[in-house]
Amino acid sequence: MYDDYSHKIIIVGAGAAGIGFGVFLEKSGFKDYIILEKDDIGSSFKKWPEYTRFISPSFTGNFFNAVDLNAITPDTSPGYTLRTEHPTGKQYAEYLEKTATHFSVNIATNTLVKDINKHDDIFTVTTSRGTYTSQFVIWAGGEFQYSESSSITGIQHCVHSSQVKTMVDEDVVIVGGFESGMELAIKLLEEGKKVIIIDKKEPWTVTVSDSSISLAPYTLDRLRPYIGTDALTLIGNVFVTHIAQEDGGYIIYTEKSGNIKTQSKPILATGFQNLPPVVEKFFTENNKGYVALTDNDESTITPNIFLIGPKVQHGDAIFCFIYKFRQRLPIVAETIAKRLGISFRATEEYQDAHMYLKDLSCCTDECTC
Ligand SMILES: Cc1cc2nc3c(=O)[nH]c(=O)nc-3n(C[C@H](O)[C@H](O)[C@H](O)COP(=O)(O)OP(=O)(O)OC[C@H]3O[C@@H](n4cnc5c(N)ncnc54)[C@H](O)[C@@H]3O)c2cc1C
Repeated sequence: MYDDYSHKIIIVGAGAAGIGFGVFLEKSGFKDYIILEKDDIGSSFKKWPEYTRFISPSFTGNFFNAVDLNAITPDTSPGYTLRTEHPTGKQYAEYLEKTATHFSVNIATNTLVKDINKHDDIFTVTTSRGTYTSQFVIWAGGEFQYSESSSITGIQHCVHSSQVKTMVDEDVVIVGGFESGMELAIKLLEEGKKVIIIDKKEPWTVTVSDSSISLAPYTLDRLRPYIGTDALTLIGNVFVTHIAQEDGGYIIYTEKSGNIKTQSKPILATGFQNLPPVVEKFFTENNKGYVALTDNDESTITPNIFLIGPKVQHGDAIFCFIYKFRQRLPIVAETIAKRLGISFRATEEYQDAHMYLKDLSCCTDECTC
């Protein structure tokens, strides 16, 4: 059993963001930190359904200043470590484990963060294995383990896409037509099943440069053969209000567009919560419904607690991919270093590798062609 521990920085979560941050600190020679992880390294990736692969490709361009899109450090590459272009979740977790070991990142696994409080500028972090204290907290708890479906009633009759571990037996209705929904749909279509996708927008028709808004080329390549066939029905601009279990099946009620009957449990691919209860009291939401953050990804209401990972968003700049949010890790680290009166020597390496993004004015540009 662990006793009380005190560190300058506590990072919650040993996923891509937490390990990436830990490596940055190690590269800077900073040791007074710990990552608290409720399961083990890469736990979310290990929970991905078997059939799911990365949509962003891994390719080792690192030493020509084009770092592998899925790498969390300037000098590692999942493409190189795993010898695959679209890793599965389990493979990516292996990359994270190897990276954490190589850089000797300090992690307490099987340590669930149950509560966080702040008094007199010190955070007290209550865990399943004792109490930790720190001056800074970095929330890197991710989103995958915190699914969202609150705007729909009757969700108890559904299964969230993150919980679909193996392929379902029957034809299905999927609510949500972005990457998670499409990924599942493609696998079902490949197995000869019929799929209906309902979305409050029409993500499959959106063509913009930002991969957070447009479907990835890898997804479109695999979806295209089914578009316009009987196997795939795409219903866009339709809002699902509630789902009920009736007459031995399920009815999906929509606003203004009739109801859809299905025999198998509807699947919700409706995204993830902003923040879980254990940390949400330290943050507020902005008028767009995203976590409100300062220019340095710190809470706007509680000093010295930061958010890293896919829920970081500034205006139209959405950091939900690894190649995006990894560029904000040095910005958070730099802010902390300034307050500690030190500097982190890894900053230059990350700047040289284009893994340092402070000026966000570039992020909303469209490609020329
Ligand atoms: C199906 C799917 C496909 C995706 N494909 C891509 C892709 O192709 N390219 C891409 O860039 N991104 C992709 N993403 C997104 C990417 O996986 C996430 O952005 C990434 O996992 C976020 O990393 P993270 O470290 O913030 O969170 P996670 O990897 O989820 O890590 C969070 C960690 O925090 C731990 N944790 C949570 N709460 C606590 C607590 N209270 N106490 C202690 N530990 C806690 C969890 O156990 C977990 O290990 C995909 C996501 C999904 C779901």
